[in-house]
Amino acid sequence: MSAPASSSSRPEDEVYYVCQRCANCCRWPGEVPVDAKEIKAIAGHLEIPESVFIEQYTQLRLNRTGLTLIEKPDGACIFLEGHDCSINPVKPDQCRGFPNRWNFEGWRDVCEAIPVPKSQPPGN
Ligand code: SF4
Ligand code: SF4
Repeated sequence: MSAPASSSSRPEDEVYYVCQRCANCCRWPGEVPVDAKEIKAIAGHLEIPESVFIEQYTQLRLNRTGLTLIEKPDGACIFLEGHDCSINPVKPDQCRGFPNRWNFEGWRDVCEAIPVPKSQPPGN
């Protein structure tokens, strides 16, 4: 995987990252918080009552401030099916924001997103 061209300014100031749908981020263990609006949207997408969605697919966050999606035994998100998100049209904001709106140290080691100059129009 190529890295952004080096320069004196931060690479993230000059490029955005185009997701390659490798689904690695969905396999990393960790919380995927869902707020009330997201719970309503996902439950609607699944065509189940919000109470059933909450009971079957969420658990209390570690800091006890809200709910997070549960994981499969291997740590992958409960909604990962193969390489696809089964709730893609209504996936939580945290999923939409990675890696351009938020990321973490070392994320480039596992994420296959390709850097594209911000001057270049979006599109695959
Ligand atoms: S909700 Fe979808 S995009 Fe978000 S972690 Fe789960 S499988 Fe991945
Ligand atoms: S790890 Fe990166 S490239 Fe892979 S699905 Fe997630 S955001 Fe896209």
